[in-house]
Amino acid sequence: MQALLERAREPKVAAVAAGAVCAAAAGGYLLHRSLSHRYPTEGPYPAGSLPDGAYDACIVGAGPAGSTAAYFMAKGGAKVALLEKEKFPRDKYCGDAVCTPAIKILEEMGVMAELVEGNEAQFADSGGFVSPHGHVYIGASVEKIGEAAACAVKRTHLDARIARCASRAGADLREGMEVTDAVFDQSKGIWTVKTKQGVEFQSRVLVCADGATSRLASKLGYCTEAPKGVCSRAYVEAGTHNVSFDGVCFYAKESLPGYSAIFRHPNDELNFCYYLIPCGKEGMCGDVKESDLPSLHNNAIKYDPFISKALGPKAKIERMKAAALRLGCQGIKSTFDDHLLLVGDAAGHIDPLTGEGIHTAIMGGKAAAEALLAMRQTGDYSKASTKRYYKGWMKAFGHDFYMSRGGANLVYRYPILLDACCREMQRQGDAMMVKWAEVMTNMKPKTYFLQPHVAVPLAIAVVREFIDQKVLGKASAYIMANRDDDKGGAKDGNC
Ligand SMILES: Cc1cc2nc3c(=O)[nH]c(=O)nc-3n(C[C@H](O)[C@H](O)[C@H](O)COP(=O)(O)OP(=O)(O)OC[C@H]3O[C@@H](n4cnc5c(N)ncnc54)[C@H](O)[C@@H]3O)c2cc1C
Repeated sequence: MQALLERAREPKVAAVAAGAVCAAAAGGYLLHRSLSHRYPTEGPYPAGSLPDGAYDACIVGAGPAGSTAAYFMAKGGAKVALLEKEKFPRDKYCGDAVCTPAIKILEEMGVMAELVEGNEAQFADSGGFVSPHGHVYIGASVEKIGEAAACAVKRTHLDARIARCASRAGADLREGMEVTDAVFDQSKGIWTVKTKQGVEFQSRVLVCADGATSRLASKLGYCTEAPKGVCSRAYVEAGTHNVSFDGVCFYAKESLPGYSAIFRHPNDELNFCYYLIPCGKEGMCGDVKESDLPSLHNNAIKYDPFISKALGPKAKIERMKAAALRLGCQGIKSTFDDHLLLVGDAAGHIDPLTGEGIHTAIMGGKAAAEALLAMRQTGDYSKASTKRYYKGWMKAFGHDFYMSRGGANLVYRYPILLDACCREMQRQGDAMMVKWAEVMTNMKPKTYFLQPHVAVPLAIAVVREFIDQKVLGKASAYIMANRDDDKGGAKDGNC
């Protein structure tokens, strides 16, 4: 033993020993991780234990999240109730931009084919953005990517089609059924879901998919604060505007990291919306507040040099509507618990940089269904089992939230980054534009911007832009004319 200790003092042997200890520690850590990813293999509620009339899952809310979850659960053989307080077709205030990850799932469900057949989807080809200093790039992306990065679909069409698709797959869709409460019986492992209409539903699992303000998740204590982001929408009548592109984002400096956007529908109608993204001091969306949205929205239409030109003087524009955005799981204690899942906006599944949440709702809905079907096999619906849903949505899109939040902060503090990005698009053309589009639509993670072939040209572009703006003093082309500074008008809609 003494001899061994002596030998261990020799530098080479000590290094080998240290390496072995590190390798053992790493191995132990990896083993611990892989074991902790194991879910219960059997539980107290095997197949056949469901009481008569009860469902495997009761889903509250038939938006994209709830209906997608219902479709995949029903398709996998589960008994599902899908409860929706409205009757389809119903409107939902939205920018209507559906990103590619959602398009792929909608194709799998057969919904995309229906939307195309009904001429309800406009695949975005020509698009781009206007940077805070007024640089503009509008290019064509489909040829370079091989598919559209997004498409515009009115929510009256999209949501009705997904809900009907879930119903055809076997989900028990109940429209006009408003859920008021849900009570869990721990001894039986059964939820009783109560509705305003007096009908009660029983289920093994409760899925809260009732949107950003989720009354149910709040009542059950999983959602602890009101959403902090907000977005407006106004449709512009077809044939009254000058727009020929499919989708453009406008990054006016005053509301960064928020932005406004115009998306074009197949019938030439436009959707104009204005996103305010929480950032900086508590209660702020950059330098503006939620209550500034009406004036920002209306001033953009009237005085923004790019937007007012795109819309033209004769544009017939709907009155502004607005609704809340719950970004990056803001105010959510957990998205899973014993016999419980939170999906879509109810879980805060909106990208904290873009404010987009249709694709994450759809991906999250699918992840919830996969978790439920796996739990049905084992009969265990405890928190240790529902955690697989958390792993599923984290893998699908949640891993990007951290970078998105950082991106929003960067854009707010250093708008020059957006200017440089746009200038790089002008230099490289569509090749750079598609990189941007792929990242902003969640086709690629935000870390893609850190890869040398993207980061190095961007860094050089930042230096060039810095010289132009700060050394040569080149003036911004993004100047609002005669603006009306009446901030703080009343919000419309279900804000
Ligand atoms: C103005 C605006 C613009 C946006 N633009 C875009 C965009 O362009 N692209 C994008 O990807 N995302 C956008 N978003 C975000 C997107 O709208 C949401 O992320 C998406 O709708 C989330 O889907 P969901 O199914 O989780 O919730 P929702 O679509 O809100 O669906 C929730 C459903 O639950 C129902 N419900 C609520 N309470 C109850 C109850 N008690 N009982 C029964 N049913 C109930 C509601 O009626 C509704 O049908 C925008 C949001 C806003 C506000």
